Amino acid sequence: MRALVLNGPNEPFSLATIPDPEPRRGEAVARVISCGAGLTIQHVKAGRAGVEYPRIIGHEITGVIEAVGQGVTDLSVGDAVTTYFYLTCGRCRWCQINRETLCENFGGYVGRVCDGGYAELINLPTQNYIKLPESLDWQENAAEVGVITDAIATPVKVIRHAGIKPGETVAVFGAGGGLGIHMVMLSKWAHAEVIAVDTATEKFSACRDAGADHCVNPNKEGCPELLKELSSGGVDVAIDFVSSTQTLETSIESLGRGGRMVTLGGSGESFAAHSHQMLQKELVLMGSRYATRQEVIDSLKLCGRGEVWPMVTETTDMEGAEALHGRLEQGLITGRAAIMINGPKDT
Ligand SMILES: [Zn+2]
Repeated sequence: MRALVLNGPNEPFSLATIPDPEPRRGEAVARVISCGAGLTIQHVKAGRAGVEYPRIIGHEITGVIEAVGQGVTDLSVGDAVTTYFYLTCGRCRWCQINRETLCENFGGYVGRVCDGGYAELINLPTQNYIKLPESLDWQENAAEVGVITDAIATPVKVIRHAGIKPGETVAVFGAGGGLGIHMVMLSKWAHAEVIAVDTATEKFSACRDAGADHCVNPNKEGCPELLKELSSGGVDVAIDFVSSTQTLETSIESLGRGGRMVTLGGSGESFAAHSHQMLQKELVLMGSRYATRQEVIDSLKLCGRGEVWPMVTETTDMEGAEALHGRLEQGLITGRAAIMINGPKDT
């Protein structure tokens, strides 16, 4: 098969022909139609997330099952699928209650500890495949369908986790990013009033298109004062995709009574919160990580019903992947991009 192989940190893709993967017991091989390209995997390509080389990155796939290993009964050749990003044990108490992002035996990420979707074929444990609902026309919309698994599912989880209700005010920090803009979209879908916060003002028009009622550049305008003004005293939910000390503290300071702060950035930076304010306003500070399998399934169905739809602004083929990742690194992609691997007719 042809694959985009990374041979070291911050090296260009090597478009190589390598042996086809063979599914072992409990595994299945899918033919990849498309694979989403976002900052999460660009971090790996740029060497900011450690992996063993050679490695094939990518996890937001649309694919079709091509072969199944021994003992596989829940998938058949020809099934249209997408993938779940986390390798989890399926047995611990968190997996048992459908909170597998907290898995005690977390096995890592598809496209980091095992090869991912930037190849004509992908081999994964069967529990990492999710069958596509018939309501999704994956043959016409392969690029969009593949990115639902992360770009839509991650914000869907935040909506639930933070309990965002109709009429509430939501501020999204890092709103111009690939996930941020989908968070704006999903918050609007949840009937919130949405404030997009970003220093990349060239993304504001896309943020408005995604549903932002207000766009705020924190370098130019006083945050959190402006956020408090726009929300009549403080936002109900502040969602931080940047996760710097500054954005985390601004997020908390911008909260009103009963406010919730959600961080997804995972920078590892610390922040200070005023305990008396937390008490007086009954604030909730929380982290939210990716999505559960069920939230991915629910997101696929939401898109299948036309409730929301992911924003894919660029697609290219395997030869174009290097240039596309260069644009990702420079922050020039709006929403998501995708690599088209095999045409649906080839399957
Ligand atoms: Zn587990």
